[in-house]
Amino acid sequence: MTSLDSSPYPYEAPVSAELFARGLQVTPGGVNSPVRAFRAVGGTPRFMAQGQGPWLTDADGRRYVDLVASWGPLILGHAHPEVVEAITAAARRGTSFGAPTEGELDLADEIIARMPPVERVRLVNSGTEAVLSAVRLARGATGRPLVVKFAGCYHGHVDALLASAGSGVATLGLPDTPGVTTGAAADTVVLPYNDVAAVEAVFAARGADIACVVSEAAPGNMGVVPPLSGFNAELRRITAAHGALLVLDEVMTGFRVTRSGWYGLDPVDADLFTFGKVMGGGLPAAAFGGRADLMDQLAPIGPVYQAGTLSGNPVAVAAGLTTLRLCTDEVYARCDEVAVTLRGAASAALFAAGVSHRVQQAGSMFSVFFVPDERQVRDFDDARSQEAFRYTAFFHAMLGRGVYLPPSAFESWFVSAALDDAAVEHVLDALPAAARAAAAATPDDAPRATGQDPSEVSS
Ligand SMILES: *Cc1c(COP(=O)(O)O)cnc(C)c1O
Repeated sequence: MTSLDSSPYPYEAPVSAELFARGLQVTPGGVNSPVRAFRAVGGTPRFMAQGQGPWLTDADGRRYVDLVASWGPLILGHAHPEVVEAITAAARRGTSFGAPTEGELDLADEIIARMPPVERVRLVNSGTEAVLSAVRLARGATGRPLVVKFAGCYHGHVDALLASAGSGVATLGLPDTPGVTTGAAADTVVLPYNDVAAVEAVFAARGADIACVVSEAAPGNMGVVPPLSGFNAELRRITAAHGALLVLDEVMTGFRVTRSGWYGLDPVDADLFTFGKVMGGGLPAAAFGGRADLMDQLAPIGPVYQAGTLSGNPVAVAAGLTTLRLCTDEVYARCDEVAVTLRGAASAALFAAGVSHRVQQAGSMFSVFFVPDERQVRDFDDARSQEAFRYTAFFHAMLGRGVYLPPSAFESWFVSAALDDAAVEHVLDALPAAARAAAAATPDDAPRATGQDPSEVSS
C-alpha cells in the first residue's frame, strides 16, 4: 500500500479504470447513480472495495478518509460492528416475508419519538419513493393538482420534482428533464429558494389549486444552502392560510443534523415529512410520515394507494433501527465537533492560499462554495455562480492525498462519528496543498474524464 503522507496517489487509478471501462459496457455511464461517474470533476471514478470506520479502500488498494458517507447514511461510519451484527442476525431469521414484522413498528416508534409532528409513519425503500408517495398523498388529501418546489432542491428522481433539481441534475448541468411529460411538468411550479415574496405571489395567483409546497428542510443538494431565519415558518403560515400542505423533505437532514433532524434546530410542524439515508443505516429504507388524520387517508383504510413488495424489509429495518438507537447525544456531538474543525480548517487553508470562497453549514452538513466575492449563497443561482473549476482542482488534490470528497461542487460534505483524531488530522494535512491547487486552477482546466469525451463534461 502507498504511504499516505509521503507519496500522494497518482491521478490514474489502473484497477478502477479497468472496472470503469467494463462498467461502461454494461450500465449507462458505468454507474448506477449519475454523480458517482465523476463527470463533473473528471478522472476515474473510484470503485470501492471496503469501508471500515472513517476509511474507504478502493480497488487499487488506496485508502481515503471518507467525507461522503454514502451521501449521508453512514453517520456511524462504515461497517459499524453492531449494525453489521443486527443485519446478519436479521438475515439469518429470513430476508423478507411480505407480511408485517415487529421491527417495523420499532422503527416507526423510533421515528415518531424523535419527530413530534409525526404521528404515523409508512416505510418505503428510497427517498425518491418517500417523496413521491408524500406528494401523491398531498394531492389525494387536498384534491388539488399543483406542487410548488424550489430550484436547486432535490427530492429524488420523481417526475414532478425533477425541474430545476439539485444533486446530480445540477452537477451535470442537465437540461430540464427529457422523459417528463408536459403534463407532469405543468403541475409543478418552481420558485427561487428563500424567496418568501415569490411564494406569496404564486399562492395569490393559484392558491386554490396548490396541493403542497415541498422543500428540503435545509437544502443540501445544491451545496448547503440553509433556509434564512423564519423561511420554513413562513412556508407553514402561507400553506396553512391557503389550505395547502407543507411537505418538508428530511431525507438528507433527518436524524443526521440532530437526533430530530433539521426539525431539532428549526421546529416547524409540517403536515408531512420524508426520511431516508440515516434511517436506513446504509441499507435501502426510507419513510414518510405526518399527522394521523392525513396518513390514514392511505390504503388500506383510505383511498390513496401506496404499496411496496419490500417495504419495511426486515434486514433494512434492522440496520436502520440499530443505527438510530446508536445515534446518541455523543454521536451528534462528535459529528458537530468534527464538522467545526474541518470547516474551519478548509476555510483557513483557502484564505491562506488567497481563494475566495464561502463555507455554509446546516448543522454538521457543510459545503464550500468557490464564489468570487465570498457572498452568502441563498439560492440556486447564487450556487451556480461559483467557480466550479476550482472545486475540480481542490477535489483531485484531496483525492490524491487520500481524502474522498463528493465528486461535485453541488453536494454537501458528510461527516461521521467514526472520524477519529487520526482521520481528522489526515484531512487537515491534505488541505493546504488542495487549497493551493484551487488557487492555481483556471476555467480551462476541463475535467479529464476517463473513457469519456471531456467536451461533454459540464458542471
Ligand atoms: C437523497 C435525497 C432524496 C432521494 O433519496 P434516494 O434514496 O436517493 O431516492 C430525496 N430528497 C433529499 C433531500 C435527498 O437528499
